[in-house]
Amino acid sequence: MNPLVEFMVRNAGLAEALIGEHTDDGRGYCRACALGAQRGYRRFPCDIRRTAEQAREIERERMEC
Ligand SMILES: [Zn+2]
Repeated sequence: MNPLVEFMVRNAGLAEALIGEHTDDGRGYCRACALGAQRGYRRFPCDIRRTAEQAREIERERMEC
């Protein structure tokens, strides 16, 4: 497993919080990653969002067991 995904799975609520922050601004860019970015916005979904979604999927699978 991706160590970053594993980290998010271990920290309950982290993946959900990141998904809430890293949202599409309506033009195909991530709002959260735009902060502090001098040269254009990060495209959406950004790496953080994708990683958080993977972690959330794993959390859900574990809850169903
Ligand atoms: Zn982002």
